[in-house]
Amino acid sequence: MKCVNPKCGKTIERPLELYDGRWACPYCRSIVGDVVGEGFRITAENEMLFTQSEICFLTWLTAGRDGRRDRHMLENAVELCREAALAGHPRAAMRMGYYYDKDFVEENRSETARCRVAYTYYASVCFNGGSSVDAEPGVTAPDWNKLRIEAAKLLLGMLSATPADFDAIDTYSFARNKAKAESMFGNQFGAIKRAAGQSESDRVKEVHDMLASCAGKGRIPVFGVYSLDGDSLKAVVRYGGGDFYRLIERRKVRVGIFVANGGRLGAADRIQMLTNRRLVEATLEELGSEKVYMYFFALRKQPSVMDALESRGGELLRELINGGRKPSYVFYDDDLVYAGAKRGSSVKKAVKNLINEAAEAEA
Ligand SMILES: [Zn+2]
Repeated sequence: MKCVNPKCGKTIERPLELYDGRWACPYCRSIVGDVVGEGFRITAENEMLFTQSEICFLTWLTAGRDGRRDRHMLENAVELCREAALAGHPRAAMRMGYYYDKDFVEENRSETARCRVAYTYYASVCFNGGSSVDAEPGVTAPDWNKLRIEAAKLLLGMLSATPADFDAIDTYSFARNKAKAESMFGNQFGAIKRAAGQSESDRVKEVHDMLASCAGKGRIPVFGVYSLDGDSLKAVVRYGGGDFYRLIERRKVRVGIFVANGGRLGAADRIQMLTNRRLVEATLEELGSEKVYMYFFALRKQPSVMDALESRGGELLRELINGGRKPSYVFYDDDLVYAGAKRGSSVKKAVKNLINEAAEAEA
């Protein structure tokens, strides 16, 4: 993919993926609207990459998924496909969406983290404004409308069952995307419906998986905030037979909560760290069903981020909680790179920029 900023124009191997679904150029931090920037074009080269990737995927599938021996086949498939997608192959972009959607890439990512990447790939095809897709002489172009409808079905299928927190983000809202797809392709998505409200147990699992991903191998989050009720927090701690304690005791993640007496946090609501089992048990025991804001920080990440978050009684976290309206926020390195480099500042300043922007976006 080429950067859309004419002053930059660099080739982007991997864009920055931002918390709200936007992608940015890692060199100049311009927002790139689409996976491929300028548009799709099928060439002999990206067609070959995609074909090779499909062969690898098929080899892996037919090997019966037996153990790790064939894992590299799947990894090759994904990497070749990524290359083909960024080089402008629409079917490869759709396939990348599928790989993230169905959890074939980077194990240990939480569901929302996977879905936001999948969304960008799917949307790049189905919401693409072009009236046709270009193909080099000698390469057959697919039926463009059919391909986009296929991508729209995959996208809506995924969004029909995402966690509620994810659905609450405008970009990813099922209703908004369905309306958009219908305005483009007519009324042919009637069979796809948003699953009835996500159960609380799914949410507990999502929070658990996000915390567990701080100790994982793939991309790990830097920090995040969830609003929960007391019972859900208890369920998160109990989920997975002691995972929570393993994570905090092995210092993989730092967790703290604010217990809000009203909906918003007041000056008297203090941060309560949950750094060991005794403290957690004592805190849970006192907790009723009141609203709790849980924040986490992956300890493998830069300690200065944690300092920035916790200084002045968690001032920045309070700003995010009181200003932001979403039930959860999770930030990755890419968000900090974007927020910091954009204004050429320190890590602390980057955290501040990031939170100011996230809280303001809701105001
Ligand atoms: Zn750029």
